[in-house]
Amino acid sequence: MIDKQHLINRFISYVTIDTESDPNSNTTPSTEKQWNLANKLAEELKTIGLQDVSIDQNSYVMATLPSNVSHKVPVIGFVAHFDTSPDFTGANVKPQLVENYDGKDIMLNAEENIVLSPDYFEDLLQYKGQTLITTDGTTLLGADDKAGVTEIVTAMEYLVKHPEIKHGEIRICFTPDEEIGRGAHKFDVKKFGAEWAYTMDGSQIGELEYENFNAAGASVKVKGKIVHPGYAKGKMINSMYIAQDFINSLPRLETPEHTEGRQGFFHLAQINGKVEETNLYYIIRDHDKEHFEARKEVMQNLANEINKQHGNTVIELDIKDQYYNMREKVEPVMHIVDIAEEAMKNLNITPIIKPIRGGTDGSQLSFMGLPCPNIFAGGHNFHGRYEYVPVESMIKATEVICKITELTAEKYA
Ligand SMILES: [Zn+2]
Repeated sequence: MIDKQHLINRFISYVTIDTESDPNSNTTPSTEKQWNLANKLAEELKTIGLQDVSIDQNSYVMATLPSNVSHKVPVIGFVAHFDTSPDFTGANVKPQLVENYDGKDIMLNAEENIVLSPDYFEDLLQYKGQTLITTDGTTLLGADDKAGVTEIVTAMEYLVKHPEIKHGEIRICFTPDEEIGRGAHKFDVKKFGAEWAYTMDGSQIGELEYENFNAAGASVKVKGKIVHPGYAKGKMINSMYIAQDFINSLPRLETPEHTEGRQGFFHLAQINGKVEETNLYYIIRDHDKEHFEARKEVMQNLANEINKQHGNTVIELDIKDQYYNMREKVEPVMHIVDIAEEAMKNLNITPIIKPIRGGTDGSQLSFMGLPCPNIFAGGHNFHGRYEYVPVESMIKATEVICKITELTAEKYA
């Protein structure tokens, strides 16, 4: 059994250290203060008895739990990030414990009347009777992803203390700067040396994800011609009308506000215009690689067509791929998802397998040679004051980690 109080104490010791990352910084980690938790984690991993504990110049913390079986088992890994989102402050987090949750409103902050209510966040109701950790309404909590960090450390500690659970070599890594899209950038996949890994960075209990968007960004530069409006006949070219033409020629229903599940979209994220020049910025998203390529082609063809009509290059289009669906890297090694699914079922958790409408560090890692599905860490309402995590979900996630290591060793026996 995982010691509940011990896990709560550990989680609180992490979330009370401010590790907010900063997209405007070029250093790694992006903020100096992330070192505070990174160093603490490295020390803690040594204390619980892990081997090869290292912390590199970019603050990536790695460690090994050696195999305790004589047969050969693939090295597997678990990954979490210790930074928190710059979307909301992570300074002076004052976690509050709600024991035996009664299913009613939770007053986060009486002074400012900030309430966490199941009327609005109905997911709360599935945790009736459980222990919730919430914020005091003035900060985020940082369960994203310190819940994941807590679960990995706790699982490793448990495995060290319970040698009767048989497993192969396990590698773990904690990264900075995931929230600003750079968690995988300086991840030394070779040094990590795992055949596959799991990020413990999903939300509600049961989540298991191995599909994400293919993603590209498209800059559309529309050039016009400014002439005095009183003498413009036959001369002025208003770039805003051309831009309007471009915008209206793309399918209006294939946009974020009209799509869900596996449906892709064109998203007009920005528009800046005057007569002489208008700039549009789009993001293109699709789970399906062929559809993704087709979307980029549609956009290119449209630009070509408009240029032809004008007998001139009035539109310059620059499309850059951003990241890809990890599914193509995971599907050839589907047993890594199957093992996680089996581990959950073994623990009476209903797996929720669904495509992510976004990207993860795991997708970057998968394309860097480390196939890396994502598993729930238990929290809800990330990146804001209503963030909370049920302790029971964190315990389950910890058990899932232990069970995966056990099942992997069994499969290769
Ligand atoms: Zn996260």
